[in-house]
Amino acid sequence: MPLDYHSLLTAFVLSGCGLAISFFVSWLVSRTERFLIAWYLGVSFMVLGVLIYSWYAKTMSPVLGAAGYTILLTGLAFVFGAGREFRTGVFPGRGVGIIAITSSTAMTVPMLAGYNGASIVVLNIAAAVILLVTAWDYWRGRAEARLAIALLTALYVLTGLSFVPCAIVLLDAGEWRLSQIPSNWAEDLNIGICLTTLAGIGALSLALNQVRLARGHKRDAETDPLTGLLNRRALLSRIADDIEGPAALVIFDIDNFKIINDAHGHLTGDEVLRTFGEILRGSCPTRGLAARLGGEEFALMVPGASLVTAALLADVVRTRLAKRHFTGNGVSFNSTVSAGVSCSEDATTDFETLLRDADNALYAAKRNGRDRVAVNSGKIEFLAHIRPLQDGQRGPIDLVRLKAG
Ligand code: GH3
Ligand code: MG
Ligand code: MG
Repeated sequence: MPLDYHSLLTAFVLSGCGLAISFFVSWLVSRTERFLIAWYLGVSFMVLGVLIYSWYAKTMSPVLGAAGYTILLTGLAFVFGAGREFRTGVFPGRGVGIIAITSSTAMTVPMLAGYNGASIVVLNIAAAVILLVTAWDYWRGRAEARLAIALLTALYVLTGLSFVPCAIVLLDAGEWRLSQIPSNWAEDLNIGICLTTLAGIGALSLALNQVRLARGHKRDAETDPLTGLLNRRALLSRIADDIEGPAALVIFDIDNFKIINDAHGHLTGDEVLRTFGEILRGSCPTRGLAARLGGEEFALMVPGASLVTAALLADVVRTRLAKRHFTGNGVSFNSTVSAGVSCSEDATTDFETLLRDADNALYAAKRNGRDRVAVNSGKIEFLAHIRPLQDGQRGPIDLVRLKAG
C-alpha cells in the first residue's frame, strides 16, 4: 500500500502526538523522572514543527518555512537534552539553547534571503548532527542496560543518517531556490525511517525508564535506610544467590545501646548506628556482605574465611568503633560492640546453622563482659573469645567450653 509523502507526514504527526501524551502521562506518574518532561517537549515541538512545515509546503512562505524548521530543530535539541538528562540526571539547558539557536540561525538566514534550498540542506545536516550526538550520548551510558541502550543508539544513528542523503541530493542538484518542497527518494526514505524509529525510540526510552524505576525500587527494598547497608531480607537472598562453599559469619550487637538512647537521645543513637554502618562497610572484604539485621544488630558474611580470620576481622571492627568519639546532649562518650563468629566447615552448612552458632557466640561475648569477640566452631562444640587489650592490640584467644562433653 504505497503512501504519499503528505500522508507519511500526517502519520508522523499522529504518532508523535501519541508519544508526547505517553511521555507526559509517564511523568505525571513518576514526577522525579524529569527527563520525561524534556522528552514530552521535544516530541511536541517536533510535531508542531512538522505541522507548520506541511503548511509551508502548501504556501512556500519563507516565514512559515523558517518557523517550522526552527521549531523542529528546537524539538531535536530537547530530545538531545532528554537523553543527556536521562544519563546524568541534569538537564543541559545551556547546551540545548546553544544547539537550538545555532542550528536555527544557520537555517533561517538563507531561508529568509530566498535560498530555501540551502536552508533545507542546513536543516538536514543539523538534524543529522544532533541525532548522532544524541546517539553518542546514550552510548556513553550503555553500562546501565546494554542491550536496550545499544538498540536505542542504533535507532538514533539510523535516524540521523537518514537525513544525510536529503542534503546530498539537494547539494548534487545545486538548486538553491526551490519553488516547491523537495520531493525525491531521499525525502521518502527519511520520512519512512523517522516514522518507524520514532515509535521504537519512544518505546525503548519508556522501557529504559521502567527498568531504572524497577531497579530503584528493588534497591530501596534491599537497603537499610539509616546505614545504607543491606537489610536482613537482602542478606538472605544474596547469600542464597551468590555464596557457594564455606563461609564465616560475624554477628555484631552494639553494647548497652538502650542506655545510649536513654542518656544521649535517639538521634545520637542513630548517629552511632550510622557510624557503625560506615565502619562495617569499610571493613568488609570485596566478596563479603555487610548488613543491618535490625535494631543495633549487624552481620558480616565472609565467603571462604576461616574462623580465626573472621574473628580477627571482627576484632578490627570492634577496635574501630571503640576509637570513635560521639557527642550527645553535650556529653562526649564512646560506644562498644560485641561480636559472635561462626564458620561453616563445608559447603553444605546452611545460613540458619551459621546464624545460631554465631548468636550463641555473641551471647557468650556479652556474658563475658561485652566489647569482645567470641567464636563458636559449631560441631567442635567449644567457644573462644579474643580478650581485648587496653592498648587496642588483640589479646589471646580464650577457649571456653560451650556444651558439656
Ligand atoms: P546489650 O548490650 O545486651 O545488647 O544491651 P542493649 O541495650 O544494646 O540491648 P537492648 O536489646 O536492650 O536494646 C536495644 C535498643 O536499640 C532498644 C531500641 O530502642 C534501640 N533501637 C533499635 N533500633 C533503633 C534505631 O533505629 N535507632 C535508635 N536510636 N535506637 C534503636
Ligand atoms: Mg540486640
Ligand atoms: Mg545491644
